[in-house]
Amino acid sequence: MAAQVKVTFLGGLGEIGRNCAAVEIDERIMLIDCGLMFPDADMLGVDLVLPDFSYLHERADNIEGCIVTHGHEDHMGGLSFLLRDVSFPIIGSALTLALARNRIDEAGLLDKTEFIAVADNERRKFGPFDCEFIPVTHSVPHGFATAFHTPQGTIMHSGDFKLDLDPVDGRRTDLATMGAIARTEGIRLLLSDSTNACEHGHSRSETTVGKVLFDLFHANAGRRIITACFASHIHRVQQIADAAVSFDRIIATLGRSMQNNVRIAREMGLLNIPDSHLRDIKDVADLPPEKVCIISTGSQGEAMSALSLMAAGESRWLKLSEDDTVILSSHPIPGNETNVTKVLDGLARLGVEVVHSGIEDVHATGHAKAEELKTLLTVTEPAWFTPVHGEYRHLLAHAKLARNMGVAEKQVIICEDGDQLIIDDRGIRKGASVPAGYLYVDGSVVGDVGHGVLRDRKVLAEEGMVVVLVTIDIGNRTVVGAPEVVTRGWIQDSLANDLIEGCIAAVHLDVTAALERSAHSDIESMQKVVRSAAGRFVKKQTQRRPMIIPIVIET
Ligand SMILES: [Zn+2]
Ligand SMILES: [Zn+2]
Repeated sequence: MAAQVKVTFLGGLGEIGRNCAAVEIDERIMLIDCGLMFPDADMLGVDLVLPDFSYLHERADNIEGCIVTHGHEDHMGGLSFLLRDVSFPIIGSALTLALARNRIDEAGLLDKTEFIAVADNERRKFGPFDCEFIPVTHSVPHGFATAFHTPQGTIMHSGDFKLDLDPVDGRRTDLATMGAIARTEGIRLLLSDSTNACEHGHSRSETTVGKVLFDLFHANAGRRIITACFASHIHRVQQIADAAVSFDRIIATLGRSMQNNVRIAREMGLLNIPDSHLRDIKDVADLPPEKVCIISTGSQGEAMSALSLMAAGESRWLKLSEDDTVILSSHPIPGNETNVTKVLDGLARLGVEVVHSGIEDVHATGHAKAEELKTLLTVTEPAWFTPVHGEYRHLLAHAKLARNMGVAEKQVIICEDGDQLIIDDRGIRKGASVPAGYLYVDGSVVGDVGHGVLRDRKVLAEEGMVVVLVTIDIGNRTVVGAPEVVTRGWIQDSLANDLIEGCIAAVHLDVTAALERSAHSDIESMQKVVRSAAGRFVKKQTQRRPMIIPIVIET
């Protein structure tokens, strides 16, 4: 019997974000990605959401490394948190490592890790893990699919990918290698990106965006052009730069991550912008508008980003007006729509001409759509299939595609966060679940915000609070003086006086009655009486349920 292999999903199956999986052979663990997720609007005050790392903390000495498939935050943004407690090397393409390095450095954790760069199609052993890194095309260059050659056959993880036959750098998803592995050793289990499984057809090639951009630059000759895209989308930056250079515009980058990434990519020879056409942002304000192209961050409407500041008229570098055209070369990630709308509105107020993906094809997705997913399934012919990287409906749609492509009904296994696949000679099945809840980061502290805290914040945000202070004399079984009521965020002061008076009376009445009734009145039971008296009164008078905080003091 060959050794058993386990795959545990710690994040990314049931949400877009915080991707993290653990492959286990002989008790050793190789992580695939360690990402973060940006919070939903109802996660009040939460900055970031991480995978629950307790499974890894318990096995800290067993972690052989973490393969980072590509340089997106939903795949590497958790590293600077996990490395606080656990030490392991990070494996990825040179660009991925350069992008990951920044945050780990900022967190002062460089001594907790080692960066191991691997090349396209390299096959390398890390402890019991025999890994092959296969090029894939995505919206950041130099991503990998990973083939794990294990005692239980080959497990292929697609990474985030699309099948772009005409990518900007010519580096296509290497279907030939995947097919060769499938034909020679066979692929036992395929784990594949489900983000666009619900989208029919085929994604557009990234190079088609370049043509649209070129046309827009042509149509906007004479105007200043400001573009915004993801800072890690080096190929998009390249195409914007190409359009700018062909119209002899001077390029300036704006926003810290854009400036960093452009520098890194140019140093690595992955981004070609001639020195003659690149200038610092502080040196372009006086150039004629038709000579300038700004490449900025903030395409998702992030609050303090360069584009948001420009839209609010608060940028220290640029004042926008009717003479400017802004091209948003992006598509809002679900959850960011409101912020993007705010930016669009701000720009409209300034009279700026705006082009976005709803108007022109200035964006192409980095994730494979249904036809591409089917192609991957055809090429890899997996015996077993588990969809990864997606919300539940994406996973479900991808599972259906796999069955339609001939994977046996029982060999398509839908997993969610916390599920574990056990792979042995008999087949593949789900094992016991592991903890995989949301780990919230608020400020610099990880994990001190639980669901209870969030529930409280939600009540406070939506209903406000009413603090009721009652002093009692338990010996004499009486209320001392009148109760006091203090409120915040509940109702306007001018309207509150009568209600507060009423509330005081209601509380006084109930507490007095309770003291007279019961022989064993303690502080805790009196607090309950105060809470229910105040709560009932407030609900009846205002139809609201603010947080009631009873404080009972004994004289
Ligand atoms: Zn990605
Ligand atoms: Zn992703």
